[in-house]
Amino acid sequence: MSKHILFDRIDEPGLDTIEVYKARGGYQSLEKALRMTPEEVLQNLLDSGLRGRGGAGFAMGKKVSFLPRGSMDKYLVCNADESEPGTFKDRELMQKSPHMLIEGMIIAAYAAGANRSFIYIRGEYELQAMKLEAALHEAREAGYLGENILGSDHSQSLILHRGAGAYICGEETGLLDSLEGKRGNPRLKPPFPANQGLYQGPTLINNVETLATVPHIIKMTGVEYAKLGVENSAGTKLISISGNVQRPGNYEIELGMKSYDIVYGLAGGPEPGRRVKFWFPGGSSSPVLKPEDLDLPYDFDSMAKAGSMLGSGAIIVVDDSVPVMDVALKLAKFYRHESCGKCTPCREGTNWTVKMLERIDKGEGTPMDLDIIASVQDQIMGNCLCVLGDAMAMPLSSMVAKFRDEFEEYMEEARVRAGLGAPPASS
Ligand code: NAD
Repeated sequence: MSKHILFDRIDEPGLDTIEVYKARGGYQSLEKALRMTPEEVLQNLLDSGLRGRGGAGFAMGKKVSFLPRGSMDKYLVCNADESEPGTFKDRELMQKSPHMLIEGMIIAAYAAGANRSFIYIRGEYELQAMKLEAALHEAREAGYLGENILGSDHSQSLILHRGAGAYICGEETGLLDSLEGKRGNPRLKPPFPANQGLYQGPTLINNVETLATVPHIIKMTGVEYAKLGVENSAGTKLISISGNVQRPGNYEIELGMKSYDIVYGLAGGPEPGRRVKFWFPGGSSSPVLKPEDLDLPYDFDSMAKAGSMLGSGAIIVVDDSVPVMDVALKLAKFYRHESCGKCTPCREGTNWTVKMLERIDKGEGTPMDLDIIASVQDQIMGNCLCVLGDAMAMPLSSMVAKFRDEFEEYMEEARVRAGLGAPPASS
């Protein structure tokens, strides 16, 4: 069912101001957290079972616990780059309730022992950056940021940094390079940022939604939060739904809700007379699922068992009016454009994939091309510096495997359109 924690009265006028946020109990979780030890706060995060909301679903408490203890400079970075096609939930959170993110960042930094923090926001989010800047100013004035916050031993700076519009800068190590003023290229992992991140110091990086959930965990306790959702997928999740649905937008659901109820119940399903052909359960980089998979609960494990992933929680619905070829080509072109070019499988693989799809589109393809496209995807997966290459290869190979007949039909029709007749018999 849909359940509101992050989106509770999200449209209340003035919620982006400290006055309204505090009138609703805002910053009380911070006060509560500062009365606890950092270890106790961390224990709550561990108890909550909260898994990262950016896409990978890595346990947040575990990530915090990876940061070394000790007095060296440690950093907290909020990944607000939100560039995954179909994903626009963090945008709404930052715009309407910026203080929720700021409060979550102060509590998370306290647990991790980090004193310097940054929000890296994608360049296109101008309004959201303005809202955050205003909220940061209010938080500093109120003494929630700066030296000895609320009389505690915890001091923290928080700086907003605007990106310049590159998908690769949402990849955590590309983001760190960009934040350091370099070209945003991914780094080899390990070392993971938890050990060697910003300026080579231990760094906790989390997504906006993950950090905005922290005040709620502290308020209700980790143990209580863990009761929401289903096993291994605790809590609520913001879902962005787009594509061929009648009511696209952001929704908050309790994890484990039936996928059908999200796509048809909340988003209204496709236009009357149309049916779902396939859907991306977790952004454009997740392998596509068929309509029958809508019977599955929407949670991390169920999506993984179905051969896909919950990812950033961005459901993209494609109905039977859209050729699978159009989606495949658009997607491949996006990843080719966004590939940083640093590693060969991604740079060359995305380019070859686009070229082969374009050849098919021009009527010059043969069924063998589909095997080659599939094998190129196999050679990309797991062989790149970061997941950008895989982000194209995973959905592409799922489309070719699940819709091969449609690709072959498209190929025939494209050949006829181009006046080239049937493909050679040998192919
Ligand atoms: P990942 O699985 O490599 O890592 C997840 C997180 O856990 C990272 O912060 C990583 O540093 C940490 N981690 C993993 N193993 C660790 C270890 N042994 N020690 C310390 N830390 C460890 O995944 P990723 O590359 O960070 O993210 C990939 C996902 O991002 C994709 O699945 C995609 O869904 C998503 N994505 C989201 C967006 C968006 O706009 N929200 C955009 C692009 C991609």
